[in-house]
Amino acid sequence: MSRAALLQQEMGLGPAWQARAGWFEQHPAQLLRQAPADGDAEEPAALAAEIAPEPQPAAVAPTAAPQQSAPAAPPPVETAPAPIEQPVPTPEPLRAELRTELAPIDWPQLQSRVAGCQDCRLCETRTQTVFGRGNPQARWMLIGEAPGENEDRQGLPFVGRAGQLLDNMLQAAGLDREQDVYIANVLKCRPPGNRNPAPDEIAACNGYLLQQIRHIQPTLIVALGRFAAQTLLETEDSIGRLRGKVHRYQGVPLVVSYHPAYLLRNQPDKAKAWQDLLLAHKVFRQAGN
Ligand code: SF4
Repeated sequence: MSRAALLQQEMGLGPAWQARAGWFEQHPAQLLRQAPADGDAEEPAALAAEIAPEPQPAAVAPTAAPQQSAPAAPPPVETAPAPIEQPVPTPEPLRAELRTELAPIDWPQLQSRVAGCQDCRLCETRTQTVFGRGNPQARWMLIGEAPGENEDRQGLPFVGRAGQLLDNMLQAAGLDREQDVYIANVLKCRPPGNRNPAPDEIAACNGYLLQQIRHIQPTLIVALGRFAAQTLLETEDSIGRLRGKVHRYQGVPLVVSYHPAYLLRNQPDKAKAWQDLLLAHKVFRQAGN
């Protein structure tokens, strides 16, 4: 039995996971059509990164034209004093401007900036930031949601059982986690209690992810989980609708798949995750790699 098959057996995966000669082209999964709306219940709640609209300036009442003084003019009629306008509190500015304002900096500077970042409330509750891991020259970039409890403690993305499953999936697909991929999250700090990230937190952190992509220049991005997919693609579509297609993010082909933590709870969907990896490989090869 091959090493990959042994691994898959250890993972408890069925035959659909077993690579065969010519499996990328011939694999029956290639022929499967996308099942509609599968996996909609992947994560607790959809998080569409809905950025609050810019506050509109209050309408200014037209100023009355000054009256011409005329000798016979009657005395001005006394009117009630205009109500004093209460200042409208300025909403907390979202940091979407980081997209353009964060000047390109080198990789170590970026790491250091993230490590000391206090641009959103998550800095108050994190143990440490989680920048990413893997090879910054990798052709594959995997993007998840945000650090969980283990990641927050260890400072690395995708550790624990979910990380182990991801490692096994990558290895079964012939990818080395440290050499062939770079793994990062949309958010670099853990939301307390693993709650969904808030839109202003995403906006605050987004510039770091864009910088990482700019440095790595991956050939392919794989968005892991509904949250990452919806955030990167700025859509509320379900993961069932987003899987099985090739999207683009910052000009880079992007394929959507399930988050490994979801797969741990929904073993039958591992076969669909395998289909996603097949699609990702196909896109990668078509890109001339
Ligand atoms: S989540 Fe991102 S923006 Fe917020 S404090 Fe952490 S690194 Fe900074």
